[in-house]
Amino acid sequence: MNRKYALAAFVGFIALCLVPVFTSNPYYIHLVETIMIYAILLFGLDIVVGYTGQVSLGHAGLFGIGAYTAGVLFLKVGAPFWIIVPASIAVTALFGAILALPALRVSGPYLAMVTLAFGTIIQILINEMTFLTEGPMGLKIPKPTVMGYKFNEESFYWVVCVMLALSLLVVHRVLRSQLGRAFEALRGSPVASDCMGVSVYRYKVYAFVISAGFAGLAGCLYAYSEQYISPNTYNNELTVMFLLAIIMGGRKTRVGAMLGATIIVLLPKLLDDLEAFRVVASALAVMMSLGAGIAIAKGRTTLNTMLAPVVGTIALAAFSFWLDNITDWRLSIFGLMILFVVYYLQDGIVGFARALLGRSSHADTAVVLKEDNPEQDALIQTSGNHQENLIVAKQVLMQFGGLKAINLVDLTIRKGTIHGLIGPNGSGKSTMMNVLTGIYTPTAGSIEFDGRSVIGRTSSDIALSGIARTFQNVQLFGEMTALQNVQVGLHHTFSSNLLDVALHTQRFTSEEHAATERGLGLLRFVGLLDLANEEARNLPYGKQRLLEIARALALDPQLLLLDEPAAGLTAPDIKELVSIIRKIRDHGITVILIEHHMDVVMGVCDTVSVLDFGQKIAEGRPAEVQADEKVIEAYLGGTAA
Ligand code: ADP
Ligand code: MG
Repeated sequence: MNRKYALAAFVGFIALCLVPVFTSNPYYIHLVETIMIYAILLFGLDIVVGYTGQVSLGHAGLFGIGAYTAGVLFLKVGAPFWIIVPASIAVTALFGAILALPALRVSGPYLAMVTLAFGTIIQILINEMTFLTEGPMGLKIPKPTVMGYKFNEESFYWVVCVMLALSLLVVHRVLRSQLGRAFEALRGSPVASDCMGVSVYRYKVYAFVISAGFAGLAGCLYAYSEQYISPNTYNNELTVMFLLAIIMGGRKTRVGAMLGATIIVLLPKLLDDLEAFRVVASALAVMMSLGAGIAIAKGRTTLNTMLAPVVGTIALAAFSFWLDNITDWRLSIFGLMILFVVYYLQDGIVGFARALLGRSSHADTAVVLKEDNPEQDALIQTSGNHQENLIVAKQVLMQFGGLKAINLVDLTIRKGTIHGLIGPNGSGKSTMMNVLTGIYTPTAGSIEFDGRSVIGRTSSDIALSGIARTFQNVQLFGEMTALQNVQVGLHHTFSSNLLDVALHTQRFTSEEHAATERGLGLLRFVGLLDLANEEARNLPYGKQRLLEIARALALDPQLLLLDEPAAGLTAPDIKELVSIIRKIRDHGITVILIEHHMDVVMGVCDTVSVLDFGQKIAEGRPAEVQADEKVIEAYLGGTAA
């Protein structure tokens, strides 16, 4: 972690710890305690929502499972606190795996509905399983006793502080590791994740499990904090509040989670107290106006974009003074604020503040680029067994409904060659790649890669066995930096597990260091070293294509599939691309190149196969193929049609 951020986090944490010293009012202490407990849950929820990009409306249910695991273990078994905490985490994590199952099949609104149903079912179960949970009566739990010491309101507050700090550390480390990059990659492009050997299936489940673990810890602490739990706490309103907290605070930031927790805990209280509401609304208006003024003066934003937020907050403040009774307006004000945030502050409060301050969200992950990065060879010489042919495909048929996108094609790729695959648009070239990489399972035929069949295997498994690819429509992980994109490709070089990541063991730190060095080496190989810290979506199109190649090479592939890498590139970029492709071949990596630029194909390919309407119509050395009548006709026919 960057020193400045670590220091700020530390100061904030000390300030939080000192709350009971400044006020002895148990009401305030309890409020802050609740905020911290919610923040722990939100750290976890953000993994699922902010990083993997899935919706979960099941987190109030998970929160309830954590609370009830604690309550039941205490009342029925008399388990001690130090058993109850890990048990709540473990039991809830297990339910997280169950919640993940629908996420593997559906997404978007469907996933929202299924997870909402999950939450409802949990609530009903808690209500009905009276033999364990006492049903609607609820459970009473005293503050814990550890080694003869019984915690009181104040000392338990510090327990929550410590748990918050530990959660923050763990979640921070997870998200800055190969695991966090895998989660983020899922959001960026599931297809590309799979093709980089990061199984979407596995990491979606991981994300839900880890996320649920935090919800379990929060639930357990909540039970001890409230000393009474009952089923109707864990309702759908709470689950929506959690999601709102992430959206309002801003996803992919821990500060945002803390802010979100503060808002959902304090806002209902604030909307009960007109005086306090006026003060806060006025302060907000002043801060917003000042912030906007400074940002505009520094040229970081324009008057147009700032107008609505500034006018909105000033209107809110004016409104608060006009009101003489707030109770009737609470829900409307709350609703308006949500609309406002969703509409104008799409990256939440933290994202908005970052824009005003002109900071990138990658400020704390950026690597320092040294001029003297060791000139190591980023490409690993590939070996493998000594077969002459790397790919042997026979009679491959790929049918979509009535359309035979690939119609009984035989394809043999010799090791160490650059094999061109050409043909008019829609002739089945990309489909061939998708079949080779396991995205589609062919309707019939056989495909062997290095002597082993690829049919029926998952994309990530095939990728890990040595086939890397790029995509015709670029599939980068847009919100991640160029270096992080390549590091996702290096995921296979990590053997460290969650524990290594959380504890920063020697194994993890050395693997992470190696992945950074290799990542930079690969970026240098494609000429993108100086853009290492740039978000992929901000790169020019040609650079994005090169970045995809670097990421694919990170897999240490034996075979690299390039799907129209020169499309949309300028002439100098194409020249650079050709020299990169040659260098890749010289490292012993076999290449299949789909390309429309004939000069590129003729210049670099050893062999060319031509597809037309899903059938192979010619094959041979570039010059032979170019002179083939059937090929000329296919291309002329293709353009004439
Ligand atoms: P190209 O040679 O231009 O890369 P493609 O392999 O993308 O061609 O497409 C070959 C044919 O298969 C096209 O007619 C396309 O519409 C069809 N096709 C490709 N993928 C699918 C799919 N998932 N479902 C239905 N048809 C598809
Ligand atoms: Mg194509």
